[in-house]
Amino acid sequence: MRDFDIVIVGGGPAGMAAAISAREQGIENIVIFERDSELGGILNQCIHNGFGLRTFKEELTGPEYAERYADKVRDMNIPYETDTMVLDISKDRVVTILSRKRGVEEIRAKAVILAMGCRERPRGALNIPGFRPQGVYTAGTAQKLVNCEGYVPGKEVVILGSGDIGLIMARRMTLEGAHVAAVAELMPYSSGLKRNIVQCLDDFGIPLLLSHTVVDIKGKEKLEGVVIAEVDSTNTPIAGTEQFYPCDTLLLSCGLIPENELSKNCGITLDPRTNGPVVDEGLETDIDGVFACGNVLHVHDLVDFVSEESARAGESAAAFVKRGCTPDDTAAIKVVPKNGVRYTVPAEIHTSDLLGDVHIRFRVTGVFKDCSVVIKAGEEELVRRKNRILVPSEMLDIIIKKDKLAGVNCDITAEIEEV
Ligand SMILES: Cc1cc2nc3c(=O)[nH]c(=O)nc-3n(C[C@H](O)[C@H](O)[C@H](O)COP(=O)(O)OP(=O)(O)OC[C@H]3O[C@@H](n4cnc5c(N)ncnc54)[C@H](O)[C@@H]3O)c2cc1C
Repeated sequence: MRDFDIVIVGGGPAGMAAAISAREQGIENIVIFERDSELGGILNQCIHNGFGLRTFKEELTGPEYAERYADKVRDMNIPYETDTMVLDISKDRVVTILSRKRGVEEIRAKAVILAMGCRERPRGALNIPGFRPQGVYTAGTAQKLVNCEGYVPGKEVVILGSGDIGLIMARRMTLEGAHVAAVAELMPYSSGLKRNIVQCLDDFGIPLLLSHTVVDIKGKEKLEGVVIAEVDSTNTPIAGTEQFYPCDTLLLSCGLIPENELSKNCGITLDPRTNGPVVDEGLETDIDGVFACGNVLHVHDLVDFVSEESARAGESAAAFVKRGCTPDDTAAIKVVPKNGVRYTVPAEIHTSDLLGDVHIRFRVTGVFKDCSVVIKAGEEELVRRKNRILVPSEMLDIIIKKDKLAGVNCDITAEIEEV
């Protein structure tokens, strides 16, 4: 049985950043397992620009951003094994992998970092009535077909969901010569970044239908069109508002779900709001020595945040390997999301043995104008940050200074206060 100090599952931006940071902390015996044939993860199919503004102060494409990290992984001689699927992780960190070269193999790890990313909700999860004709894709699948395989799925397109992938694919399909008739969005606001709405829809005259959804898919063998209707405040379609859109392609961009099968099988507690593991300030799950970062933990809008977060997971895993145990066994304080805060990562903090300042990352439940984010321990205010506007599509990051948390022994709350 091979032994490693740190095993990293997934060679996307999260896995690579975690590996680099663990190596910088002096851990030599690391391996990254990646099921694809190259490092880079989802970034390899994101050939548009807009990556790396925070990290590199440059506008890079996805593959360029990934390559900078992959180059560093190679320069630091961090071993990685591609075409290698992780099948199972046990509670005592025995990792079962499958590869063409070695078949099924068990590996022993002192620490494991989960960095498996996420996947899009498919049609089956959306309960749209109608037959199952060809021409219905998730936006990410269409992106891979167009950007990596060189196929354009169709010519007349409707997109359901205005998340970033849907918005980016509206532009991409238009640039490939297709006509995008509309982007329908169930919510009264888009779940994509503002800059993507402007650059991907407004610039190309593509209508965004807020509070609308697809209520029927027409066509048996091949897609012939979709019926779109307006919804009320309870997201119920309003009778009489149905409109038929003829199309040969329907792209679904209706939310991402962390790839949590390995986490579930390992017995890790998942947060029903993020669908990712519940973690503490060091991004450690409730299984000792198993850490999580990137989109498998919670869905990020910017890869720069993924890299920063994953570097912290690498640092914490390195500290765990050096100590041989979790920092402290005392009860953690909880971080409780309240008024307008949907979830927080981390969900708990061990205040007695902090490695540094604590980042609280979260999303809000709706649109808030002229408001403050307030973090409190009981009645004591730890952080207050004013914001002109907060939207659910943007992940927020509030830092609580290490010394502010020393001595706090009650749960803390994160909430939005409107002025
Ligand atoms: C369409 C799209 C557009 C985006 N646009 C932008 C943008 O403009 N700017 C920006 O900053 N960010 C953007 N993002 C977000 C950014 O790309 C992601 O936040 C980031 O790639 C997530 O990194 P990750 O490493 O967590 O996951 P991923 O990149 O998904 O990597 C996970 C890796 O784990 C591997 N894996 C999974 N399970 C296993 C297993 N069992 N065994 C082995 N390997 C496994 C996968 O093959 C994959 O390579 C976009 C994302 C998408 C999908």
